[in-house]
Amino acid sequence: MRVRRVVTTRAGGRSTGPFARFNLSYGVGDDPAAVAANRRRLARELGVQGVVFLGQLHGTRVAVVDALPGPDEPDLPGTDGAATALPGVALAVLSADCVPVLLADPVAEVVGVAHAGRVGAAGGVVPETLAAMGRLGASAGNCEALLGPAVCGQDYEVPAAMRDEVEAVLPGSATRTRRGTPGLDLRVGLRRQLVELGVARIGVDPRCTVEDPDLYSHRRDGRNGSTGRLASVTWLDPTP
Ligand SMILES: [Zn+2]
Repeated sequence: MRVRRVVTTRAGGRSTGPFARFNLSYGVGDDPAAVAANRRRLARELGVQGVVFLGQLHGTRVAVVDALPGPDEPDLPGTDGAATALPGVALAVLSADCVPVLLADPVAEVVGVAHAGRVGAAGGVVPETLAAMGRLGASAGNCEALLGPAVCGQDYEVPAAMRDEVEAVLPGSATRTRRGTPGLDLRVGLRRQLVELGVARIGVDPRCTVEDPDLYSHRRDGRNGSTGRLASVTWLDPTP
């Protein structure tokens, strides 16, 4: 089976105002009917049986998905990672600056996703997701990873103490912003962590959510109001 990956943008949906137009999160104050329509469109365009979204609490809990949840079930409660071996069932991370991590072992035919914001990344959500994939037969050495669009190191300003705390557990993350202040580039730290875990094939989407107006960014748009969430999605495509 082929491993497929898709990252959405703001384009193509029914949401309006600050959520325009393809917001996929129910948790940001958007009209639920618009989100539902956007999610139905996503599943239809991908040609999958269903898309399973993480509940996302900035934690490290990972769910193994062994059945497609019903249409009225909530996003996987209490999870920031998921793994599955089910063909045609897509796993999705919602984000607007946090790092979406898409993982796949094409040999074992297992995929996984992680929502790696500062707290989850520092807490180890990515190794937890690889461990859950391992319980389905995946091995890190056969895994490939994609780090999706996220805030870049030049735009992610944090207090110096926070930068140092993250650097201590996710080495390589510390940066200096374009203003010369302490910053974080979580994708650099996560990339190094994946290499140390044995994942050799790692792709990084170069886009910065703050700089790219086609993407949602909480840092850019959410501080004084609301914004939407894009989805990074992966699945095993059973079509021959
Ligand atoms: Zn940037």
